[in-house]
Amino acid sequence: VQLRNNDLIKVGRTVFKFIAHNNIEAAYHDEIYRLTTVDGLTQINNRRFFDEAIEREISRSRRYNRTLSLVLIDVDHFKRINDTFGHLAGDAVLKEVASAIKKRIRKEDLLARYGGEEFAVLTPEVDQKGALAMAEKVRKVVEKHEFNFDAERIPVTISCGVSTLGKKGDGAEALVQRADEKLYEAKEAGRNQVC
Ligand code: GH3
Ligand code: MG
Ligand code: MG
Repeated sequence: VQLRNNDLIKVGRTVFKFIAHNNIEAAYHDEIYRLTTVDGLTQINNRRFFDEAIEREISRSRRYNRTLSLVLIDVDHFKRINDTFGHLAGDAVLKEVASAIKKRIRKEDLLARYGGEEFAVLTPEVDQKGALAMAEKVRKVVEKHEFNFDAERIPVTISCGVSTLGKKGDGAEALVQRADEKLYEAKEAGRNQVC
């Protein structure tokens, strides 16, 4: 039999409702899903989406014996940007950093807002060397980008930490932790760089 809109299907004690696409209710659920997975300010994936995606990508990479890298990005001295130019300028910078990064990465890479002024790029099929090169491209594009707010030029740079999935064992937590350690190194070494 073919399911029709609003059909109820009982499996054990659970009742499922089938909602055909292109009806108003489906659009409503799509919007709810979007609201729970997209960051309101930057309109890129949010932390919640990222946390699920990284688990999925790690399992997939392990199953098929593929490589996978992670780049953590943190805006340099962002507190100073807020303090000097105001919080609204800070928000505008975050939005523009997100879209500048998005333009520079591949379709299959996953970009998310990881925290306040932190972003993450998950790169399936990319090894350590490739991820370092990608991060460097992103770093350069932000350094060269002209950020203007209220006719004022705001200098913006980012620091990046890169990690790659190990041969076995480590999961999302370890991958993130290693990228975070590298990010810390980049900050310690003077910022506006990739480690
Ligand atoms: P560092 O180079 O070491 O990363 O210095 P930093 O100033 O960027 O780091 P810190 O963690 O001290 O400050 C981050 C600031 O980002 C503090 C917080 O108020 C600001 N911030 C976080 N989320 C937002 C946001 O959504 N909008 C704005 N305007 N500021 C935000
Ligand atoms: Mg930070
Ligand atoms: Mg910062």
